[in-house]
Amino acid sequence: MRKYVFVTGGVLSGLGKGVVAASIGLLFKLQGYRVSLQKIDPYVNVDAGTMNPYEHGEVFVTHDGKETDLDVGRYERFLNERLSAANYMTTGQVYWNVIRQERVGAFLGKTVQVIPHITDEIKRLIRLALEENDAEIGVIEVGGTVGDIESLPFLEALRQMKDELPREDTFFVHLTLLPHLSTSDEIKTKPTQHSVKELRGIGIQPNAIVARTECPVPDAVKAKIALFCDVPRDNVIEDPDLPSSYYAPLRLHENGLTKAISTGLHLPVREPDLQRWQDLVRAIEVPKDRVRIGIVGKYVELKDSYISIREAFLHAGAHEGIAVDTEWISSEHIARDGAETHLKDIDGLLIPGGFGDRGVEGKIDAVEYVRTHGVPYFGLCLGMECAVIEFARHVLGLPKANSTEFSPDTPDPVIALLEDQKRVVQKGGTMRLGAYEAKLRAGTISRECYGREAIEERHRHRFEFNPDYRERFEKAGMQIAGTSPGGELVEIIELPGHPWFVGVQFHPEFTSRFLAPHPLFRGFIRSCRERRRSSSSLRAS
Ligand code: GLN
Repeated sequence: MRKYVFVTGGVLSGLGKGVVAASIGLLFKLQGYRVSLQKIDPYVNVDAGTMNPYEHGEVFVTHDGKETDLDVGRYERFLNERLSAANYMTTGQVYWNVIRQERVGAFLGKTVQVIPHITDEIKRLIRLALEENDAEIGVIEVGGTVGDIESLPFLEALRQMKDELPREDTFFVHLTLLPHLSTSDEIKTKPTQHSVKELRGIGIQPNAIVARTECPVPDAVKAKIALFCDVPRDNVIEDPDLPSSYYAPLRLHENGLTKAISTGLHLPVREPDLQRWQDLVRAIEVPKDRVRIGIVGKYVELKDSYISIREAFLHAGAHEGIAVDTEWISSEHIARDGAETHLKDIDGLLIPGGFGDRGVEGKIDAVEYVRTHGVPYFGLCLGMECAVIEFARHVLGLPKANSTEFSPDTPDPVIALLEDQKRVVQKGGTMRLGAYEAKLRAGTISRECYGREAIEERHRHRFEFNPDYRERFEKAGMQIAGTSPGGELVEIIELPGHPWFVGVQFHPEFTSRFLAPHPLFRGFIRSCRERRRSSSSLRAS
């Protein structure tokens, strides 16, 4: 069995197509189907690796090292499954494949055209995602908004698939917005009607309309949408604003989406087993404790730039009964005002990954503060590199120590380029990317959190702990808690004697799931809770 659910969006971007797609995937997985989720990004970039997280949101990395849009991360967090390069497609990738074929003469004599050559490649990649995941149901999300020039070839490919396959093998979900006019207290359906008209103009009639709305939608409005958009009344699904995306599968199911899709795909209408999901959502609602965690990063303004980190805290918090309040602090403000001003009230500090020297000095100041004040610290990738630089400057007495990324001529390059990165000139897809194995040392915090010796974690970096300095660091009290299996590369550093100080060269946030939070995030927030308890009892006494 191979069935396809296509998710398109109208009216505006940012309505949460990714959440709807991920929810559909989950609702069918929890009925026992094998599901695959795929994101189509209509950008000419070959992958998301070269896109600015400030504009486009975080770059997510799959196990097999593909740099993707953040929605692929969301799919993994919902499905609790590992996806791969096959679950992500861009315009750039599609054209790249076709042009490479053209150059080797695969189309000799033919004129290579958007239809059929580009659309054939799109269809091939859609089928491939299901095959690679051995999926019975594929949920395919088309990025962008219907009416965009750049998504046209993709929608045309979907239209063709719909005509080539039996009717009950494809289902189109169209996500729109119902604006509410407060002056007249009215919900307006016209934008929805227009976007469905646009979709029909391309030859696609949606089977269900998922309508984002701020306020409850009266039956009469639903009936109107059904009539004007030519969908059954039961297939107009209300999608209210929710406190977190993890409520979405529950609400969409309650509002009839599972039933609408099952009926359309001629599948038995079954009840997905949502019990565990529901329990966790409830755990978020009634936390037993709260902690306040400072995050010092370059992009503080937009929440999507570090979405996996936010989600990892939420997952760990749901399982530990802790609400994590994150406070985003600009590294430039720390450099300007001093670390104490911004960090004195936090229970823990996290420094996320990043590139380029902007804000690095403020991050190093922040690490110095938490190292010397016993505040729990979690450094991810660049966050580990900052911890190494800070230790070199203030404990090893190497005041000019730095990473060659920020200071190519530093006399003490404690973080330096990987040997095989030295010759790389091209930017796209050339970092140390994807999952690598690591080995954990007994008696460390990391080993205790993971509860095992061998781990696998995802990477996205060029620079690395410089092995020439390793002995000096260890003598001065920094512990190398994890290395590559052969022991050459440093993967985790810790500071024994400090309550919780862990820097990792990889990105644990990419493998945290709602149903399976990451052990280091759990350990970190537990230590933040300890810190909070002891500092509040100090205040009380
Ligand atoms: N810029 C650093 C490097 O390339 C860190 C990368 C990251 O934090 N993802 O090594």
